[in-house]
Amino acid sequence: MINVMIREVGLRDGLQMLPTVMTTADKLDWIFSEFACGVTEFEASSFVSAKLVPQLSDAAEVCAHAVKMSGLTVSALAPNLKGAEFGIAAGVDKINFVISVSEEHNQANVRRSVEQSVLEFARVAELLKATKGHRPRLVAGLATSFGCTISGRVLESNVRKLAISLVKLGADELIIADTVGYADPASIRSVFTSLRADFGEAIPIAAHLHDTRGLGLANALAALEGGVRAFDSSLGGLGGCPNSPGATGNVPTEDLVFMCESMGLRTGIDLPRLLQVRSKLKHQLPDAPFAGSIARAGLPKGWDRASH
Ligand code: ZN
Repeated sequence: MINVMIREVGLRDGLQMLPTVMTTADKLDWIFSEFACGVTEFEASSFVSAKLVPQLSDAAEVCAHAVKMSGLTVSALAPNLKGAEFGIAAGVDKINFVISVSEEHNQANVRRSVEQSVLEFARVAELLKATKGHRPRLVAGLATSFGCTISGRVLESNVRKLAISLVKLGADELIIADTVGYADPASIRSVFTSLRADFGEAIPIAAHLHDTRGLGLANALAALEGGVRAFDSSLGGLGGCPNSPGATGNVPTEDLVFMCESMGLRTGIDLPRLLQVRSKLKHQLPDAPFAGSIARAGLPKGWDRASH
């Protein structure tokens, strides 16, 4: 039994930012090595234009291979209906349809107004309802939920409004993202408490946090205290946002696992083994900006994971 679900998003959020393109074989090696450590869910790629994001042009191949591994949940990002169609064809378990709460960020990211993206989300929901056989769960990812590098402040009421309309249209789960690292523990507590009041236990709600301004783990702790039990994170803290300059760094998976397990919250993840996977990845991506404190300082002497 695990207490906290940690989803690896480095293959999407991290790789899309790098100047180098990782081979399909290395991506699959990353997924399977981290899966062997106990990480059971991955955002494996994104079905975006290969012209815009050449790093993820092998999304179909990566997903189609990853879904063959039993016990592994594969999700893929889709910014539009076409992306969702590709995701369904690749057999993914979850489609993460991303909409920015900030109008300006959504325009920069997908060249649509928020309203147009909501209409597109409705089309994806209809498509999924009509899908025979393996039907992926529909996840609504709310980007820039705590602020935007283009427009600044984002109102909590707008986050709630958007979340409510997407759930009404058929979202099975929500991911609330601090895309650019503007959140603080108080705003995290406030937004997640409000959303919990709106949806109760009916809709799983995950936190996607960036450590851009050093508050990543503090925000994760605030989210934990607010009842959040699902997180996105990225091995070595790889990540960012192509339309938000300086928005580097997801919360490092290994540091989040360390915090949870140290607090007695089981993640099901073998941390020493995860650190070995991180070392291997660092060799494969020598130019990538790796972050993370546990990898630098090592585990405390006598440290034991929660499940022992
Ligand atoms: Zn992100």
